Amino acid sequence: MITALAGGVGAARLLAGIAGVIDPTEITAIINTGDDVTLHGLHISPDIDTVTYTLAGLGDAERGWGLAQETWHVMDALARLGGQAWFRLGDTDLATHLYRTQRIHEGATLSQITHEISSSLGVRSSLLPMSDDPVKTYLTLASGEEVGFQDYFVRFHHDVPVSAIRFEGASRAVPSPGVIESLSSADTVIVCPSNPLVSIGPILSVPGISDTVAARRDSVVAVSPIIAGRALKGPADRLMSELSHEPSAAGVARLYAHLAATMIIDVADAALADDIEATGMSCVVTDTVMSTPDKAMELAKRAVDASGSSHAA
Ligand code: GDP
Ligand code: CA
Repeated sequence: MITALAGGVGAARLLAGIAGVIDPTEITAIINTGDDVTLHGLHISPDIDTVTYTLAGLGDAERGWGLAQETWHVMDALARLGGQAWFRLGDTDLATHLYRTQRIHEGATLSQITHEISSSLGVRSSLLPMSDDPVKTYLTLASGEEVGFQDYFVRFHHDVPVSAIRFEGASRAVPSPGVIESLSSADTVIVCPSNPLVSIGPILSVPGISDTVAARRDSVVAVSPIIAGRALKGPADRLMSELSHEPSAAGVARLYAHLAATMIIDVADAALADDIEATGMSCVVTDTVMSTPDKAMELAKRAVDASGSSHAA
């Protein structure tokens, strides 16, 4: 069994790779919900949907989020009305949010709904929201204004400096059913190459999760989302430097050293291996750019094997 901590795009790519090298039913992903947002009265869970669509083989590989062959008639019509069209929701994608919102009104939990949607779409792995309780990521901008994650990320194109991050609701949140059990019992826990501060950070802010991972640190493997000092996509590098973390694979290692015994970094960062081992982690250097499904499977194999436990292909 493999349990992974997952944000959106980087995580979805690695999880698809893992599902290519071990039985998908042996995989559990614990997914960030700090980015969840209500728009048009609909409950949207962007990271859960990215992972779900990718593992279902329905995702748009190039964009990384949303569905392949999507159309945008509803958004275009909404823009014509002067409605809120900055957060793009494709016509087919909207069905997911309609379904989720209706089920929430019926009293279902986010974990039940995530299971319903992912199994309807043919996903065989277990996808668990980090919590069924609302936890919302807020960022303080240099101007002093505090904004929700999607405002920062989509509306401001993450092009504004940030001075603080806060996870509202985290202290009262409870891990969703199965989260702690799957983190304790997995052969290996993998921290996916997701933004450490705004994708993995919210997951670790839910009481009990970080302690459970730290307690089994020897078989926890983290994959750096930072390659040669840059995020492949998104603001991870900038956020790290704005919040006084070195924007490098070594900076990521310092954030994870208490949780994970092994760090996987890209060949471009081979020179950082000594710095990383100085944090007390062992360092695996390999190609970590998942530009094709085969490359994602290669990386997945390294991650699954890195902690020494053995899995059948
Ligand atoms: P999102 O912003 O919600 O999609 O989620 P993530 O936090 O998972 O994604 C952003 C991070 O994933 C960025 O820091 C990227 O550098 C990282 N990432 C995306 N694709 C890859 C990849 O192929 N390899 C590695 N190592 N990191 C990746
Ligand atoms: Ca996200």
